[in-house]
Parts: sequence; C-alpha cells; structure tokens
Amino acid sequence: ATPVALLVGTSRGSQSGILITGPEALENARGIDTVVLDKTGTVTTGVMTLGRVTATDDSALRLAASLEASSEHPIARAIVEGAAEEKLSPVTGFAASSGLGVTGTVDGVRVVVGRPAFAAENGSVMPELLATAVSEAEDAGATAVVVGWDGAVRGVFTVSDRVKPGARAAIDRLRRQGLAPVLLTGDNERAANRVAAEVGIDRVIAGVLPEQKVDEIRRLQAEGHRVAMVGDGVNDAAALATANLGLAMGTGTDAAMSAADITLVRAELGAVADAIALSRRTLGTIS
Ligand code: ADP
Ligand code: MG
Repeated sequence: ATPVALLVGTSRGSQSGILITGPEALENARGIDTVVLDKTGTVTTGVMTLGRVTATDDSALRLAASLEASSEHPIARAIVEGAAEEKLSPVTGFAASSGLGVTGTVDGVRVVVGRPAFAAENGSVMPELLATAVSEAEDAGATAVVVGWDGAVRGVFTVSDRVKPGARAAIDRLRRQGLAPVLLTGDNERAANRVAAEVGIDRVIAGVLPEQKVDEIRRLQAEGHRVAMVGDGVNDAAALATANLGLAMGTGTDAAMSAADITLVRAELGAVADAIALSRRTLGTIS
C-alpha cells in the first residue's frame, strides 16, 4: 500500500466529517461484506421520550427519576425529563449495569430501574397488571422499563425514539454497495423488528447483553464474513474493537469513539456508506 494514497484518503475523509484514526483503518475496510448496526443512537436518534406510565405506587416515577439522574443512558434522560414536575431525592450507592439497568438507594429504599429481567434478578416480583403493561409496550414496538423496590415491580414506563431521517435510504445504499445490513441491539425483539422493518433490514439480533455483542461479531466472522460495526454506546465499544472495521457515531460516547477506526462527525447513517465508499476508492488507487 502506498502511504501517500492512504494519507490522501484520510484527509479527504476529515473534510467530509469522516475521521479516520490512521492509514491502517482504511486497510481494515478491505473486503467488508457485512455491516452490523446498533439500534439506539445509531439507526434511531437515541433521543428517547417517556410515553405511558403505569404504576401501582404514586412515587414510581419520582423514585425512578431520582435514580436515573445519575445515569447517562438515553432511557435515563427520558425518565428524568418526564419527571420534570417531581421533586427528586438524592441517591446513594448508585450502580449501573450496562445493557440492563441501574440500582441505588433513594429515600432509604433500594430501587432498581431497567429491563424487566434485571428487576426480577434484583428481587422485584412482577404483578399481573404491570406484566400486561410491559407486553402492551413491547407489542407497540416500544421499550418497557420497570421500576421496583421492596420486592415488587411498582411501575412500567414506555420509552421510544425515532428512526433517523434518511436511515432507509442509507440502508439501501449499503445494500447497493454489496453490504448486508444486520441490526444488533440490547432492546427487546419487537422494538428491534419494528425499527428493522422501517429501515429495510431483514436480519435482526435482539435482546443481547453488551458482552454478547462481541460474540455476535465473532460469530459472523466465523461464518466467513468481514464485518463492519457501527455504534455509539459504551456497550458497543468491545464490538467496535472486535469488528474488522469499527465506525462510531460522533454524537456517541468517548468509549465508542476510542474503540473505533472511524468516527462519523455527522451522526447520519448515510455517512457509513460514504466512509466505506471513501475507503474503497482510496484502496482502489493503491492496489
Ligand atoms: P442498545 O443495544 O439498543 O443500545 P442498551 O444495551 O444500552 O441498548 O440497553 C439495553 C436495555 O437495557 C434497554 O433497552 C433497557 O431496557 C435497559 N437499560 C440499560 N440502561 C438502562 C438505564 N439506565 N435505565 C433503564 N434501563 C436501562
Ligand atoms: Mg446505542
């Protein structure tokens, strides 16, 4: 490879908001045939809003928001914003479990907020009424987050965000470049399928824990694919590093950007196709 061509490619990229860590990053783009896309914050805006609240206790939203005030997760922001009218309490012993939820002590009680399975693991039993609210949210393609304390789930929050403008056209472009798109998410299967259908992705891997994202990349590689991964979250960092080519959204976390080969300053999905086209052009001038 001629270093000059690689450097020219690298500098062309930076002019169009495609920040390439170094010449070898472009080499990594060689032969990519599969593009794995994280859902929240990558295919969708990652700006979540709180929808329906179903609770068996009046303080469900207030306690959940008090806890989520310490989290950076898009779901946390939605819950805190949705509780703007509430007076939040301080939290002690806050802990975040990536891809699962958060725990901490608020008003003297140990509170858990997160996936229904995470609340169950933390000893919160789900009453029938709230189980129904969870399935209704998921049937509607939203994400259901629960809050529990003192042995029971006491509230269900429906949160959702939107697909980024131009996402469908961007996926079409990837396909025309000969790349197979795959949606990879920690979110529930129905929410994942809704987004996939909206943007035209057929292959969906849902409900994965952050560490399983890496396993899914390795599995695709073991099938003989060369894989690009696009993500934005702390939970995507290991998968970005494992993929043959890692692309991070410029709106994402520092962890994602430092694990990636390429950072897309315009956090649009179209920039993924641009970055791959740029890499191919640059490599084409070399070989
Ligand atoms: P994605 O793979 O779509 O980026 P994450 O791995 O970040 O999603 O999160 C997966 C799931 O974990 C969320 O859908 C949510 O149910 C739960 N979760 C993670 N962090 C939080 C949090 N701070 N508050 C509530 N739920 C959370
Ligand atoms: Mg994400």
